[in-house]
Amino acid sequence: MALGRPGVVAAYLLSGKECALIDMGYQSSAKSVIDDLEENGLGADNIDYLLPTHVHLDHSGGCGSLAEKFVNASIRVHPKGMPHLADPSKLWVGAGELFGARLMERYGKPQPIARSRLREVSNNEEISLGGGLTLRSLWTPGHASHHLSYELEGTGSVATGDAVGMIYPNVPVLVPTTPPTSFNLPLAIGSMERIRDIRPTRLLTPHYGVMVDATNLIAHNIRALKEWEIKIGSLLKDGTSTEQIARILTDESARRAGKSPDTIPDYLSVSIRVSVLGFTRYLETIAKAA
Ligand SMILES: [Zn+2]
Repeated sequence: MALGRPGVVAAYLLSGKECALIDMGYQSSAKSVIDDLEENGLGADNIDYLLPTHVHLDHSGGCGSLAEKFVNASIRVHPKGMPHLADPSKLWVGAGELFGARLMERYGKPQPIARSRLREVSNNEEISLGGGLTLRSLWTPGHASHHLSYELEGTGSVATGDAVGMIYPNVPVLVPTTPPTSFNLPLAIGSMERIRDIRPTRLLTPHYGVMVDATNLIAHNIRALKEWEIKIGSLLKDGTSTEQIARILTDESARRAGKSPDTIPDYLSVSIRVSVLGFTRYLETIAKAA
């Protein structure tokens, strides 16, 4: 129920003998996640791991509240993400510059997490939940340098986090997730290839839902990034502003989904705008370095 509606941000509960939650949404929707877990019989000492794939607000914003509720949960995150869970103030300021005060209020400010609850996870580490379920971490940078995905070993499923793009049920077109400040195109493609090489059948995606036909979907994602590189690159060369580019790509997504642009939900138009800002920044950075 991120931003008060279903179908925007997913969290995944994995249960063996122990339970893990991969991603947990915004701070503002933490209570609905806790309520859902309680309704499913999971009380204060029944969640053993909280596993934010990365520390963006839609994935780890609620982590502090959940850590407070689920007293035994060990919070595992990539080393580069850890300081931001212990002290979210820098992250909060950075996100505020991107999203503005009105949206930040809707997202909710994350609570800090005691360092004693936090542990590092980097690449290729196993977390056994018992009952035959083991998670294996995959370092999948590109969307963010500290981004992790999790393979559910032997099940054909990978919880991707934002290593793959968004396809919202309401507007079923693929939109790349390429935000500032650390989006990196070759790393993002490399991470998708790593996920593809596991040969998953299902992707558990945050935006939104379980997606089948994983191989084709990853190929589609890689193509979409390459198309954006060409399209955004040429629009920038023509002097088009990032706001105009975001408008053009939002209209195009609407058209592809068979919808009129003014019916595009704000969470999608904001996502496209943020992705365009990140992609633009990436292209400008490599142009300067060349
Ligand atoms: Zn996200």
